[in-house]
Amino acid sequence: MAQIKSVSGLIDQGLSPEEILKEILEGFRFRILAEREVSYQCQCSRERTRNLLVSMGRKEIQEILEEGQVEVKCHFCGGVYCYEKEEIDKLFDKVKDINEKRENKK
Ligand SMILES: [Zn+2]
Repeated sequence: MAQIKSVSGLIDQGLSPEEILKEILEGFRFRILAEREVSYQCQCSRERTRNLLVSMGRKEIQEILEEGQVEVKCHFCGGVYCYEKEEIDKLFDKVKDINEKRENKK
């Protein structure tokens, strides 16, 4: 039982509530991290890469398209998302529509 630190003892040492919580959770923390690593899944999606393309701008993307298709590679999981010209055009047309609607609301 000596290994279990008593909360009142920690308070006596002048630790803040955050520090006490950290002391108590110290043993658990590593387990939680390890479990997370095993079940870790990248949160990337086609939707997210689309947002990236839009943020890069149509001109930039069209320059890449002239050399072939656009590929977005995720740095975290290595997933590759490919876009053909047709899909890019549709994507930016949609963005244009949304922007125009926003303009009209002003
Ligand atoms: Zn990913």
